[in-house]
Formats: sequence, C-alpha cells, structure tokens
Amino acid sequence: MPHPRSPSQAGPPALPEGEQTVTSTPPGYRSGFVALIGRPNVGKSTLLNQLVGHKVAITSPVAQTTRNRLRGILTRPTAQLVLLDTPGIHKPHHLLGERLVKVARSTIGEVDVVLLLMDGSTPPGQGDAYITQLLRHCAAPLVVGLNKQDLVPPRRAAQLQRSYRGLVGDCPFFGFSALHGDGCEQLVEGLSQRLPEGPHLYPPHAVSDQPERLLLAEQIREQVLHLTREEVPHSVAVRIEDVREERHCTRIAAVVLVERSSQKGILIGKGGAMLKAIGTAARLQMQTLIAGPVHLELFVKVSPHWRRHPGRLAELGYGNG
Ligand code: GDP
Ligand code: MG
Repeated sequence: MPHPRSPSQAGPPALPEGEQTVTSTPPGYRSGFVALIGRPNVGKSTLLNQLVGHKVAITSPVAQTTRNRLRGILTRPTAQLVLLDTPGIHKPHHLLGERLVKVARSTIGEVDVVLLLMDGSTPPGQGDAYITQLLRHCAAPLVVGLNKQDLVPPRRAAQLQRSYRGLVGDCPFFGFSALHGDGCEQLVEGLSQRLPEGPHLYPPHAVSDQPERLLLAEQIREQVLHLTREEVPHSVAVRIEDVREERHCTRIAAVVLVERSSQKGILIGKGGAMLKAIGTAARLQMQTLIAGPVHLELFVKVSPHWRRHPGRLAELGYGNG
C-alpha cells in the first residue's frame, strides 16, 4: 500500500520492505469507511486533518479546493476509521465540476457511514437542501456534523440546531469545531459506533493511502491558491515530473499548468519572486511529509483549456470517465 512516510517524530519506524505487519484487534473492534460529504467550504479537509493529526488534505478559503478523494486513516483503541474526503457537491458548471460531482456521488455508495458535514455557523440554505435530497438514496447510516461551532454565539446555538434538524430529520447530530478540535472526539465515538465489527483495514500507524506524488502535488497547489488568491483561480494543476532520492536530499521536479500566459506571468511574478515564494512554502511542507531535506524545482507551463480535455484530466489524476 503506498502511503507517505510518517514524519520521524510520529509512530514507529517503517518496516523493511517486504516485511508483514500482523496486528491483532480486541473483540468487538470496529472498522470501516466514512465518507465526508458536504458543500464546498464547510470544513471537510480541516476535519480530516484535525482527526488524523497530519496534514493529509489541503484546505483553503477558495471553494472547491479538493479535487481528489483522499483517505485519512484514524486508528483508535476501539475502532479504525478510513475517511474519504470528497469534493463538495454542487451543481456542475463545466466538465471539471461534473467530474467532481461524479466522484462525490460514487463515494456515497461504497461506504459504511456517511458524515454529512454542514457549516453550523449559518442557517441551512438551498445547497444544504440539495445535498439532503441526494442523500435520501443512500443506504449507509447518516450522521450529521455541524461544524464551525466556535463561530456560533451561545444564544443562537439552539435555534440553529433546530433548523438543521428540521432539514435532515431523525439522525444523530454532533456539533464541533474542526479548526480547534472541540467536540471532535465525540464525533469520532459516534461514527465508530456505527461501523461494522472488523479488524484493522490498514496498518495502525498509516495516516493516508494516497500516493506520495499526489500529496506532493497538492502541497504545491495549496501554496499557489494561498499566495495568488483570486488572480489564478481554479485553472491551475500541478504535475510531479520526477522524485529522486539523493544522498543528502530528495530532489523533486514539478510543473504548474495554467490556462493562459497572463496567469503564467502572475505565477512567476516580478523577477521570479512569486514562484520563489510558492516554491519555498511548498518545500517546507514537503519536508514534513518526506521527513528530510527537499530540493524543489518548479516550472510553469501554459496548457490552454486543460480543464476541458478529458485526456489531460485523466493524466492529472481526476478520473477517466
Ligand atoms: P472543504 O471545502 O469542505 O474541504 O473546507 P476546508 O476544510 O477547506 O475549509 C474551508 C474554510 O473554512 C477554511 O478557511 C477553514 O479554515 C475554515 N474552517 C473549517 N473548519 C472550521 C471551524 O471549525 N471553525 C472555523 N472558524 N473555520 C473553519
Ligand atoms: Mg476540501
């Protein structure tokens, strides 16, 4: 199973290649898959990172940041939860949007529990009604999570909860703050109770089963979004060209694909300053994932309309259907 090497301070050292882990689980142990479903920006990636305790999903104030299904693995004394972070469900705008919605919909059919995450700091809106409608066809037990409770003044909490309960009916409810962690353990407990009995699905110290390359690419894309904000919106993709272990560092070459040459200019910046800032920030994050020094070579390439070419989407890992 490909998974990133854990940072050196976390978990037991990696086993030599080919060696098997045999883990025994106590009677009554539970394990299974949990889909995180919710509108863009409700905090799915933040929750995944909070629960897993590692940075496995990228977060951003820009909607629709998450393009790939990302698994976080959460191993507790009584249960192992495999979390799937899905792109926010929304009405499709163009081909990329349709793909994202397809991935999110197919995730719902394959899991043991669906966690419907909502922004509990504002009243439910049309988007929440749309998702609830979609989940009526879902066989897996539904748990509702009201996130961002840290933003809710106590006098409004009960009223907000009532309006959400009215929307989703009679299913378990948890309020928490994915950002600060308050209430998250109760949520994990609630989800665990609804998983079937079973052994570990992944080694207990694993945090993610995403190929390392994809995580590296996501770390660069996160920095592009953070540092350029609205100037270079969603028309950016990152392709890792080469990862090479050298004596003193890991050498990584990556290409940032944009749709227009004006965007290339913004990404490179005056005298290369923007690209340098993106590269430095991404490299620092990569060093945590890789647990060692990284040398990053970053290039920018114009690839007009990459979002509308099915072949190019598949090549970048956004599905092939
Ligand atoms: P996703 O699109 O559902 O994956 O949402 P993200 O996890 O990327 O979060 C979107 C934005 O909401 C980010 O700016 C987060 O920092 C913020 N956010 C997420 N959870 C919380 C929370 O519990 N409290 C507050 N105040 N902000 C949050
Ligand atoms: Mg996300």
